[in-house]
Amino acid sequence: MKISNKEYEKFSKQIILKKFGIMGQKKIIASKILVLGMGGLGCPLSIYLASLGVGTIGIVDNDKIELSNLNRQIIFDTSDIGKYKVDIAKKKINKINKKSKIVPFKIRLNKNNIEKIIGKFDIICDSTDNFQTRLLINDYCLKQKKILISAAVSGFNGQLFKFDFKKKTPCFRCFMPDIPDRNQNCDTEGVTPTITGVIGTLQANEVLNSILRLKSNLEKKMMIFNSIKMDFRKVHLSINKKCTNKC
Ligand SMILES: [Zn+2]
Repeated sequence: MKISNKEYEKFSKQIILKKFGIMGQKKIIASKILVLGMGGLGCPLSIYLASLGVGTIGIVDNDKIELSNLNRQIIFDTSDIGKYKVDIAKKKINKINKKSKIVPFKIRLNKNNIEKIIGKFDIICDSTDNFQTRLLINDYCLKQKKILISAAVSGFNGQLFKFDFKKKTPCFRCFMPDIPDRNQNCDTEGVTPTITGVIGTLQANEVLNSILRLKSNLEKKMMIFNSIKMDFRKVHLSINKKCTNKC
């Protein structure tokens, strides 16, 4: 793979970093990242992936843009209301990096289509807003030994997880065995817009660490951020012997 002079200039401030270099940039260009959910998390996440130079970005969402999305879904504006999120996101992401191949899936993920959607991607980013989909993604990524970077937000709180299922690790179901009775999401609980920006950006950061194989301290842990107290903390995740995935 050759990096053109223009690309070299575009990415020069990251290529100059020893931990990136030309080899790192080539890895980024060769990577295939899937973003599940183009909401408050998926927007900053996909913007950063394109800005970094990720070569293939899959985006999955079957929703249309609504007025109430615009306080946090920063890729969209008022002229986009009523249009499909993946259509608009594809156009805008390509404006940031026209060399990123954007693969849109205007579909709601379920157990029948998950293999077709996730199969070809190296790193899977869960930016969805409900536990049912979250557990479905977890179980599939574990079975297929994918890297799963999972983010969630509610109220003033955000959480980030990384599961490298090529290794022995607890899974999301070890932490959350079943769908909780109160299935919280932004529609019912509300969310502060900036927390989606912080956590979506951290999710992109962890994708970058994974592509470049820079070891973060996130494995087997959950990172929690509260946007009022401005506290980051990490909680250790253990393998749950009762996990139905037999972790
Ligand atoms: Zn498990």
